[in-house]
Amino acid sequence: MRVRVGQGFDVHRLVDDADRPLVLGGVVFDSPLALVGHSDADVIAHACADALLGAAGLGDIGQHFPDTDDQWAGADSLELLAEATRRVREAGWEPGNVDASVVTDQPKLAPVRELMNQRLSAAVGAPVTVKGRRPEGLGAIGRGEGVACWAVAVVTRP
Ligand code: MG
Repeated sequence: MRVRVGQGFDVHRLVDDADRPLVLGGVVFDSPLALVGHSDADVIAHACADALLGAAGLGDIGQHFPDTDDQWAGADSLELLAEATRRVREAGWEPGNVDASVVTDQPKLAPVRELMNQRLSAAVGAPVTVKGRRPEGLGAIGRGEGVACWAVAVVTRP
């Protein structure tokens, strides 16, 4: 069996915008904050997709879902993650698991962590786990100006 690993990273600005939904890990938060982006700006789903594409040697999310493409404007990033995974399988690789670390103070992730795991895992068809870390007040993320996420994925083929 061949095994490959991929790493993904994403960051989006966090702003006050009560009219725009705040989506993380496929879960919509009841919050006055929102992440800015072409799609729903779900940094967790994006980092997971980037990790899976990278593991399969398929490049990155920007190549597959360009932000100049209206098809992905306001897109549900769980669908984007599912489509990235479909392309990984099409290339002959089976996702093993994905593990993500999100860095943010807001919103609080712990109450919905299991729900995020379930939704992301359903999109990938393999276990996806999310861990939340606080930025300890350091830098732009520590000032609440954005949310960052790192993810690692393993893929295999017989
Ligand atoms: Mg993104």
